[in-house]
Amino acid sequence: MERSEMEIELYCTQCLDHTLHQITYINDKISKIECEECHNLLQVRLDIKKEFLKESYHKAMAKPQQIRKEYKKDRSDFLIRFPFRAITKPYRLVKYFNQSWKVMKAYRTNDPNYQENSNNQ
Ligand SMILES: [Zn+2]
Repeated sequence: MERSEMEIELYCTQCLDHTLHQITYINDKISKIECEECHNLLQVRLDIKKEFLKESYHKAMAKPQQIRKEYKKDRSDFLIRFPFRAITKPYRLVKYFNQSWKVMKAYRTNDPNYQENSNNQ
């Protein structure tokens, strides 16, 4: 997760003028916009958990490309190491993400099946 800030001139409905506004981003999404003159604040509700999962997912998905790069770079060495990585890593990741999604979905929707499912594992 990354938080960044940016200053930009925007029209403020309180000041009725163009003023400097501070925009705060979480990853690439705007989380708030604040007028630096009157401190009028516009807050955007973000699903932080969803952002975090999305980020983790993209990080995990970047791995196969690294493997492909390695494959091009050194074919023989790659073939020796490939089966181990291909089998264990994606499996663990898929399991982790499926489980995380289940937990978060149940948390949000208050799914009555959630308790049942977690006891079966
Ligand atoms: Zn203002």
